[in-house]
Amino acid sequence: MLQSNLLETTRLHNARFAASQAHDLLKAALHDKQFGEVALVSSFGTEAAVLLHMISQIAPATPVLFLDTELMFAETLAYQRSLSAALGLTGVRLIRANAGELTKQDPDNTLHQRDTDACCALRKTAPLQAALEGFNSWISGRKRFQGGKREHLQLIEAEQGTGRIKLNPLANWSSDDTRAYIAKHDLPKHPLLAQGYGSVGCAPCTVPAEGREGRWKGQEKSECGIHFENGKMVKTGATA
Ligand code: SF4
Repeated sequence: MLQSNLLETTRLHNARFAASQAHDLLKAALHDKQFGEVALVSSFGTEAAVLLHMISQIAPATPVLFLDTELMFAETLAYQRSLSAALGLTGVRLIRANAGELTKQDPDNTLHQRDTDACCALRKTAPLQAALEGFNSWISGRKRFQGGKREHLQLIEAEQGTGRIKLNPLANWSSDDTRAYIAKHDLPKHPLLAQGYGSVGCAPCTVPAEGREGRWKGQEKSECGIHFENGKMVKTGATA
């Protein structure tokens, strides 16, 4: 779709769904197919159970793309398997970096110590973009309260540079909303939550913290580069 058409389409969709609940937007996407072929991209992190539970109620065979960077916590991998089984999700796909590229660019798994942007590009951005081929839209669990550029998150975005639409059904949810939903539906929690990890990414780049400040701690970086803006990877939460 042409960029101008994509922007106009998302503008109209945002106006239409402005007063809708997350479940209604997901139903329009997954049941009524109003956004073409759609995948959910899930980290199986501490808040992921909300969207995963919603899609299990609407369309449990929805493609769920889980980026396994091969540097994940063992707890996340176990949670991915147990939560998928508990919710009856049948479309989960493990997405990994190209083995040849891994050998060439990061043979000893230490690239993250030298260049986190290059490591994320290798292990996250490139494999996700390849996995999203054939999809018109994808669903993200980002929320405005998480700060940085996410403060201005729209419900529906044009992903400039790829021509896809990105749906953020939880854009206006608070941390309390998420906790309340998980409690109400008695959803399994990520095991690292009890150890003080409010947000969980790759093991080498995550420390215990209340929220996303535990990711890439001490670096300017705050995004993994799977989100695009103006055709470029978003790597920081800077609002400038
Ligand atoms: S979060 Fe860290 S280990 Fe994971 S891909 Fe990015 S730099 Fe590499």
